[in-house]
Amino acid sequence: MTQPADHPYLFIPGPVEVRPEILKAQATPMIGHRSAAFAELYARLQPKLQRSFRTQNRVYIFASSGTGVWEAASRNLVRDEARILHLCNGAFSDRWAEVSKANGKQVEILDAEWGQTILPEKLETILRHETYDAVACAYNETSTGVLNPVPEYAEILSNYPDTLFLVDAVSAYAGAPLHIDEWGIDLCLTSTQKAFALPPGMAFATVSQKALDRAATVANRGYYFDLLSIEKYHQRNNTPATPPIALMFAADRQLDDILTEGLENREARHKEMAELTRTWGQQAGFELFAQKGYESPTLTVFSNTMEIDIKALNTFLRERGMEIANGYGKIKNTTFRIAHMGDTQPHHLQELFGNFVAFLAQS
Ligand SMILES: *Cc1c(COP(=O)(O)O)cnc(C)c1O
Repeated sequence: MTQPADHPYLFIPGPVEVRPEILKAQATPMIGHRSAAFAELYARLQPKLQRSFRTQNRVYIFASSGTGVWEAASRNLVRDEARILHLCNGAFSDRWAEVSKANGKQVEILDAEWGQTILPEKLETILRHETYDAVACAYNETSTGVLNPVPEYAEILSNYPDTLFLVDAVSAYAGAPLHIDEWGIDLCLTSTQKAFALPPGMAFATVSQKALDRAATVANRGYYFDLLSIEKYHQRNNTPATPPIALMFAADRQLDDILTEGLENREARHKEMAELTRTWGQQAGFELFAQKGYESPTLTVFSNTMEIDIKALNTFLRERGMEIANGYGKIKNTTFRIAHMGDTQPHHLQELFGNFVAFLAQS
């Protein structure tokens, strides 16, 4: 790569490549989390997080990966006597439904084949007949490369004010268009190691007042992920338990860079990289796995139509300072994934394609 090839550049959908200046921000000397300096750091992050999610809602910081926020959302926002509807069309949306079940919630599933989206009409039909405390979906399904039509789901859900809308934007945030308030999303989560382009270990969630009011009616919210406890500390620019301070320093820096680039520009760059990748891959002879019209801007999943040896490909690529990702779960080897999220630029992809073509030529 153009940068020193002291490590393979990650074209995998998490953890993604992290720029050296962000890595360095983590090495800032520690501060106590009950200090004034920490409250300042917390308070400084808040408006930047809100701008980046396009929301006036509070944004909580979690000392966990995204999975922790799934648990927080399912556990706090669904009453025992009520149900949650999960829209499932891939490994991550499936797993969130598992998390709800593991927390003892009554789960209903509306699903689609992997690679397909869940059509808004289907959601509309089910909501006409059934009542749910919440509807949960993955905006960008990282296992299949499908970007689900969240704005259309939102429009339907606006007719059901008692049903909370929960969105996993882990691999979409700061890459795909995301308008929390305009779309009326009650809880939206992301974790740091995807399109945010930080090291793993921290997650964020926007939480609406309506969601907090619901949490107040839910028994057994647990301890570590009790939203009411998190809110109490949030009011004082703090967290109930020790937060990942090093990652917060990195986020402080990265949010400045994201907002300086501008959300629209960032989204345009992701769209451009996705188009580049789709065009290149199809010319090379692969087919897109995602349903037409729903292709993700942050990663592209190709069907391995030429049956290349993906392990050998990655060995070849690693020798040249980069790697991509195999397919996820049941579509391992029959698909492969190229992430183009975070701070990756079109020129990085051009280098990848050059090496990929060299591999195809010699195999
Ligand atoms: C990676 C990913 C997750 C899981 O998040 P962790 O941060 O690994 O817990 C959840 N949802 C989506 C869409 C993801 O891509």
